[in-house]
Amino acid sequence: MKKEKVAGGSSLWIRPEFAPIPYCPGCQEPVAGEAILQVLEEMDLVKDTIVIPGVGCSSFLPFLWKMDFVMTAHGRPPDVATAIKRTLRGKPIVMTLQGDGDCLAIGAEPLMNTVARAEKITILMINNLNYGTTGGQMAPTTLVGQVTSTTPQGRDPALTGFPVHAPESLAAYRGVAYTARGSVHTAANYQRAKKMLKAALQKQVDNVGLSFLELISACPPDWRLNPLESLKFIDEKVIPEYPLGEFKNLDKLV
Ligand code: SF4
Repeated sequence: MKKEKVAGGSSLWIRPEFAPIPYCPGCQEPVAGEAILQVLEEMDLVKDTIVIPGVGCSSFLPFLWKMDFVMTAHGRPPDVATAIKRTLRGKPIVMTLQGDGDCLAIGAEPLMNTVARAEKITILMINNLNYGTTGGQMAPTTLVGQVTSTTPQGRDPALTGFPVHAPESLAAYRGVAYTARGSVHTAANYQRAKKMLKAALQKQVDNVGLSFLELISACPPDWRLNPLESLKFIDEKVIPEYPLGEFKNLDKLV
């Protein structure tokens, strides 16, 4: 693959052709995207990996990358990833790229059945606490009390339940080899998130089992904050609800 280095970032971005990048000021989806590209390059997996985006702000990313990807219907990346992993010759590395709404609401059924079947794929969910692409509606991950366009008084658990903790929940499934939650809102957390993604992908390289990684990502306009306030909000409100770390890390399924 011919590489054209983009200043300050991975050589896999194709910004010149696709500029301007359609992200809001302070959005951390491109930051997560840079971490993903760096990990794939460092693991020498770029040519072997197929990215399966869902529908959401994160699904813009593969259009900006020099990589193979397959677009899917909303919430269906685990199904398409399963089909590709099971049928394509050469046994590619298959990684979904989903938002929290795509993965945990519209895609809840594909997610649960894919996990139950113990597919040896990697599911990557970028969590911005709402449906950013369609106007900031409440998602399964929206915090209690958080104001969204569909919870203008703040999320009330008596009406809409409580935030979903995906890595903790999925760790209970026997076919799952790895689950973790990271964040890219500080330099230290960015590096830690890269290590988590490496560990998740390595489970697939080693044919161990399904791996799941959640990455917290700031969404300033829909959080009604400016970019700097969003970083503070992650430290003070998001991480207390969604603790960072690994929840399962097995080298062999029992
Ligand atoms: S709506 Fe949120 S997640 Fe989507 S591009 Fe804007 S800041 Fe990023």
